[in-house]
Parts: sequence; C-alpha cells; structure tokens
Amino acid sequence: MSENGYIINSKGFEADLRELRDWLDSADKVLIGAGAGLSAAAGLSYLDEELFKRFQPEMAARGYRYPYQLFEREKENWPLAREWAYNARHINFVRYVFPPSELYKKLLAILLGKDFFVVTSNCDRQFLRTGFPSERLFEAQGSYDRLRCSAGCTGETWDVKPFIDRLLPLIDTEAFMITDESAIPSCPYCGAPLFAAVRQYEGYKAERQRYIGWVEASVGNKLCIIEIGVGFNTPAVIRWPFERLTLAHGSARLFRINKEYREWPGHGGFSMIPRELCGKARSMPYDARDVIESLYETGR
Ligand SMILES: [Zn+2]
Repeated sequence: MSENGYIINSKGFEADLRELRDWLDSADKVLIGAGAGLSAAAGLSYLDEELFKRFQPEMAARGYRYPYQLFEREKENWPLAREWAYNARHINFVRYVFPPSELYKKLLAILLGKDFFVVTSNCDRQFLRTGFPSERLFEAQGSYDRLRCSAGCTGETWDVKPFIDRLLPLIDTEAFMITDESAIPSCPYCGAPLFAAVRQYEGYKAERQRYIGWVEASVGNKLCIIEIGVGFNTPAVIRWPFERLTLAHGSARLFRINKEYREWPGHGGFSMIPRELCGKARSMPYDARDVIESLYETGR
C-alpha cells in the first residue's frame, strides 16, 4: 500500500501488535534500535514547546521555541559564555532533573529473559538509568556525560557533572551568559574548550564491537528487530543499517514504530518501509508509548 508515495503496510494497531507479539515470543534474538521518538514518548521531547519554556525560560523569551531549533545556533556565532549557559541548563535537565522513565522500564520488562541488544542514538542515558544492562547497550552517539578537548590534544575525557554544578549558579539570566569565564570547561593541558565526547571516549570502540559481534551472532537465528522513534537526523546510525540487516538476514523481521514519520521534515522522500522490504518489515505508525504499554500488558 502506498500513501503519498510512502509505503505504509500496517494492518491496523491490533493486528500489527499481534504480529509483533508473535515475533517477540518466538524469536531467538531481539534487536532494539531507539531514537529521539522513544524519549519523546517518555515525555522528553526536543520538540515540546511547553517543556522548553520551563527549562530554558531565557531562550524562550528570546523567541526560541524548542531545543531542535538550537541547532541553528552555529549560524549565530554564540560566545562560549552563552553556549555554556545553554548547555548547563540543557544537560542538567535532560540528564539529572528528568527522572528515569517508566516507559523505558516497561520496555525492559518486555525484554527480560530474552537475548536482546539495544542500540540508541539518544544521549540522555535513559537506558542505563532505567536498569538496562550496559553489556547489552550500545550508545552509538555517546552521551552527555563526558567532555573531551576540542583541539584533540589528549584522549582523556572528563565527567560533565562537576562542571554543570559549578556553571548553573553562574548564569546571568538577563544576558544569558556565564558570568565567570574561568568556570567554562577548558582543557587542562592546552586550554582549548571542552566539548561533549560524542564518539571519542575510552571504551567506545569496544562497545561498538560488542554490538557488531551480537548482530553477527544472530546469523542462523530468528531475529526480531524493533525500531522505535528513529527519524532522519542521523539515519546512518540506526535506520539504514537496520534496513540493510533486515534485507540481508535470512530470518529477520523489522517492526518500525514511528508515529510522526509523515510529518517529519527532511525525510528526503525515503519510504517508511522500502519497497524491497515489504515482505520482511512492518510499519507501525503509532505512538511508541501505546505500543510499549500494550506489549507490557499482553506479556504479563
Ligand atoms: Zn587539549
């Protein structure tokens, strides 16, 4: 079935859920891929204007409406004192104020007892904070937790939390700047600014290799692949590899849960389900919360 050029092959919520339940119960292995849509379903949405007003009031007063707009800030040439006023607020809220999510805990309950693995592009650490075992998790985009030298003079990284604690009381809310520039994170060796250690931190390659090893070991097994809320900000991280894996794997089924696909700007005309995968993938254009809660209820 094609709708406005996007292939949506869902058969309705109940039928799709039954099919997913059957695959979950009968598969040897379950691979989860989670993007921003999962945290949005858990209440932490980077498109939520009300949430933004609450945790970034100075930015809201300047006409910004939600965090994703802040990707524009590179064009505005923010001084470091503002960059870190924003970062301190953002990281503090996402990482330390927002509580471990009940929705993530339900997802974990659904997976317990199964041979599962999670790959995520989310930096908010919700998987670890809700009890997912680190050895079954690959944070492909790292997290907010570590900082590294922007000049790359060392491979060493630093915990972000002490910096955040120091910066928060130093925010001048009028100018929205850090008042004491000496508090802005800088490299103790070369003095360059510190930035998020997205993929460059100790252990990243080993985590990535563990994920690849788990996927390679799924050859010959029945593999249930569940993609949750993955859009087109970084499709090369989860979305496209999952499509290739589904196509190449002898016994895999991809369930793509994404409510906002059709509204998402910048999908570049890619189908929700590529034509080649029609017999091996199911589109589930539903709220991830509804799907996870229904699976949780039917699995008890
Ligand atoms: Zn340095």
